[in-house]
Amino acid sequence: MFRILKKSLKTGIVTGRHPEARPTVPPVASDAKATAKPFRRSLAIREVDTGSCNACEMEMNALMNPVYDAERFGLHVAASPRHADALVVTGPVTVNMERALKDVHKATPDPKLVIALGDCAIDCGLFKGSYAVTGPVERHVPVDVRISGCPPRPAEILAALAELRGRLDKPAR
Ligand code: SF4
Repeated sequence: MFRILKKSLKTGIVTGRHPEARPTVPPVASDAKATAKPFRRSLAIREVDTGSCNACEMEMNALMNPVYDAERFGLHVAASPRHADALVVTGPVTVNMERALKDVHKATPDPKLVIALGDCAIDCGLFKGSYAVTGPVERHVPVDVRISGCPPRPAEILAALAELRGRLDKPAR
């Protein structure tokens, strides 16, 4: 016990600044920025997995950990699409999830944003041509923002959301 306490005191804080995003310009259209205007200070996100391998979700989950701490930028995870401002969709749209995606989109109040996260959501990625896939997200619901990568890193997701809301690296006040 004493040995563990001594080790903890000697080790100190081991977390540091998160890695910088790659210098790619996130593909955020100007009309998406206009839709995002009411959400500059607070954006509630609902994640929808339409058939991903789960790696994109892992990166989304990492946004809320103490390293990235997305809540300081006013980003929150909503428990229901009825409380969400934006849908973050991951994975290609599988046959079984097509109806669910359309229902979730319908249940989300306007104005809303749809963010296609990862190559699969944008163009089916690795799963292109599979019999179980009915197409990318934009084939079923309108997409405002595309964040590419397989999977995109948390810093890249944060950078795209900050760009969308015109709040580059500004913690919420
Ligand atoms: S983009 Fe890559 S990481 Fe994301 S769901 Fe598709 S295969 Fe998985």
